[in-house]
Amino acid sequence: MKDSGTWSRRGFLQALATFATVMLPAGGAARASPTGKLVIAHRGASGYLPEHTLAAKAMAHAMGADFLEQDVVLSRDEVAVVLHDITLEATTNVASVFPGRARDDGRYYAIDFDWAELRQLSVNERVNAEGAARYPLRFPADAPLFRLHTLAEELALVRGLNSSTGRVAGIYPELKAPRWHAAQGKDVGAVVGRVLAESGYGGGDAPVFVQSFDAAALKAFPETTGLDLPLVQLIGENRWWPEDPNDFDAMRTPAGLDAIAEYAAGIGPWFQQLVSGLEPGGSPASTGLAGEARTWGLVVHPYTLRADQLPEGIASFEQLLELLLVEEDVDGVFTDHPDRVRAWLDTLSN
Ligand code: CA
Repeated sequence: MKDSGTWSRRGFLQALATFATVMLPAGGAARASPTGKLVIAHRGASGYLPEHTLAAKAMAHAMGADFLEQDVVLSRDEVAVVLHDITLEATTNVASVFPGRARDDGRYYAIDFDWAELRQLSVNERVNAEGAARYPLRFPADAPLFRLHTLAEELALVRGLNSSTGRVAGIYPELKAPRWHAAQGKDVGAVVGRVLAESGYGGGDAPVFVQSFDAAALKAFPETTGLDLPLVQLIGENRWWPEDPNDFDAMRTPAGLDAIAEYAAGIGPWFQQLVSGLEPGGSPASTGLAGEARTWGLVVHPYTLRADQLPEGIASFEQLLELLLVEEDVDGVFTDHPDRVRAWLDTLSN
């Protein structure tokens, strides 16, 4: 229902109020964005260090990100591991450490390995199927300097940095492929909820958003976990995952946003769903989605802003930031370059 005080919205507003408080400690150096816009470090400072490494998270924290993102998949022994893909070969050396452990499709699935095995792998900058760097200008892909880590370990790092710097960054875990996990006999939402509760992120005042592309997983999360946390419905494109039962076209309609507002505090759309015309010869034009979402009381956190991968028709990263954070007035952005967004927001407030 429009503008009704659902539990999710109350919980979100309570969390946001507390978050603002912890971001503004009396006499401390920390402070929220003067503009109130959230800088969400996508897989950490992944524009500079391999995604989802503790180093990338520490760098994002130091760059002034308001929230750090964690994608979460489960190991065979149901450890919550911070990893974007359900497979390992694009970001680790799994093929050389565990040859022969691929499934018939040639892929190495994290869920086929115990955590004691996964922790033996080194993590590298993302490569494509041919082994070439996905983002050639980023950290060298051949440097075996990093390791996988668990969600609990990452939350310990964030808490430690919050304590040692006096500046609190929130967390933004994503339940990855919940239906796929369920088909393997595992409940990723339940495990993530347990880790959050055990790590001090189970309360309504914790600076945390829980995100997923899967509506059913988000709807089930409060009851499965017993946690009342603000949820964010990610919105993809139906053409990306033709087999997926989530109807992302329907989610972007007023009726779809009304339904999302019943269980979530916000949406995480692909940024090109907010601004169209980002193609050769096109001129950027609002789709109206961000404004419509706001009328349903939903915050809007589009993904993913990359300074080294601008859409056609956009001349600079700053132009993209202007389009989304000013013209569309979104509440925050997922970005691989949190320093660039922070610096740009600071210029707005000066
Ligand atoms: Ca994610």
